[in-house]
Amino acid sequence: MNRLLKQTLWVVGSIVLLTTFHDVARADLQAEVTEGYLLIDQWRFEEAETTTQNLLKKYPNSGDVHFLNARVEFYKGNYEKAWKILETVDDQYHTVKEFKTLVSNTREATSVFVTQESEHFTIHYIDGPDQVLIPYAIEALEKSYQVLGKILGYFPKQKVRVEIYPDRIPFSRISPLTMKDIMTSGTVALCKYNRLMMISPGSLVRGYNWMDTLSHEYVHYLLSSKSYNNAPLWLHEGIAKYLETRWRQDADYMTPIMESILADGLANDYMVALEDMMPSLAKLKNAEDVQLAYAEVATMVDYMVQEKGETILAQLATTLADGTPFEKALEINVGKSLNEFQVDWKKHMASRPLKTIPGLTVLKFRFKNNRAAGEKDSAKEAALREAGNQRAHDLTMLGDILKSRQYIPAAIIEYKKAIEESKMLSPILYNKLAGTYLLQKDYDQSEALLRKSLNYYPQFATTLTHLGELFYMKKDYAAAEEFFQQAMRINPFNPLVHSRLINIYAAQGQTEKKEQQGLLYSYIK
Ligand SMILES: [Zn+2]
Repeated sequence: MNRLLKQTLWVVGSIVLLTTFHDVARADLQAEVTEGYLLIDQWRFEEAETTTQNLLKKYPNSGDVHFLNARVEFYKGNYEKAWKILETVDDQYHTVKEFKTLVSNTREATSVFVTQESEHFTIHYIDGPDQVLIPYAIEALEKSYQVLGKILGYFPKQKVRVEIYPDRIPFSRISPLTMKDIMTSGTVALCKYNRLMMISPGSLVRGYNWMDTLSHEYVHYLLSSKSYNNAPLWLHEGIAKYLETRWRQDADYMTPIMESILADGLANDYMVALEDMMPSLAKLKNAEDVQLAYAEVATMVDYMVQEKGETILAQLATTLADGTPFEKALEINVGKSLNEFQVDWKKHMASRPLKTIPGLTVLKFRFKNNRAAGEKDSAKEAALREAGNQRAHDLTMLGDILKSRQYIPAAIIEYKKAIEESKMLSPILYNKLAGTYLLQKDYDQSEALLRKSLNYYPQFATTLTHLGELFYMKKDYAAAEEFFQQAMRINPFNPLVHSRLINIYAAQGQTEKKEQQGLLYSYIK
């Protein structure tokens, strides 16, 4: 673009100003460019692209059209191309400057990404340890494509772009989430800009339920596309949470911690109001409120489905795509105002028994300080923080010292005291004690503790690994494999789990599985 074009760049919003110049042609141009932006806002990217291509033919010298084109390319995942266009655009306007920064950051963060494609997805990641995630990611996403596509009545025609960021720093630079949002809320994934983005579980001490998270983000993708991005945030989150486990044939979306926090909230009349969930659950004040908000909206969706059947979800999205305001769409499809709906939901919840488990705590995501640094140090540090209180922490330390010096029975005593003192059902402490029992081959005590802890924290990778180890030691390879596989899906970066699975497959003469596991293991070595 030449210098003259730079000077005549307008961005959307200056239409009124333009028409005062009686420049009808320019007003037309602005209206057409605005239409392009609207299509992007409505997640109608293919139509936006067609519109933009036509505009480029009609107004080949318009800075506004080129700026729109940069947006289209960005949403298609062509960051280099978007950047090339933006380089020619003057950035004296705030909108331009802001977008340039976003494109520049995204381009930088993804510059070394490699790509793997499945039937309906393209996955972008950094070649290296994160390669281990790809077969699992494809499994979760392709199953989601089928299962969720049927429920929501939407199957994207284009392959969906998925980006896996190695840790939270580049992720915060390419998303509207700040580091503080990520740390406070435990938000590690996002669906925005026509793609799914997540932080690799390899950057967390114990991984996380990243496969459900990917599926959750994919629900957002479907819903944004099908409703033309007209679904309110609470409904988005409610449906995504309600459906996030479906890809693996599990209808139970409610974790014990969500249930407990919701029960407390309802009993004490402490709720996160729907309007306070804006602009994102990641912006709520703490991780407990985030869990409460999820529990509220997921049970609202559950209630809606119980009343009207699962087709209600697709119907709502279709009505919203017409441009019908949400409250009206709710009245049409559910027959209630939003207020009535919430009142009825509360009544419904009062009749539904919810379990409160005192001591259950939201486990904060623990990031490794440095992915290259050993897992051990940061895990140790996190474990101490999570002991609960100073006394429990001191007793745990003492237990650790005794254990390291092989005073096993003495260590057991200290860990038991720590659990009693902590009162927060810390899965870390349960695992320390259970692991120490394992050293003594006291399988019964160990298993009882691990199973109890698993009931509270079903996705705690260390518990699953310990249970795998327990059955491995007992030579019950079928049970061991089951638990190790579950652990692998939360944290595929633990070398022990890989080597145990390889041994199990070798012992059972399952050569092909052994080789597959060996290949996965090679990625993280
Ligand atoms: Zn979500």
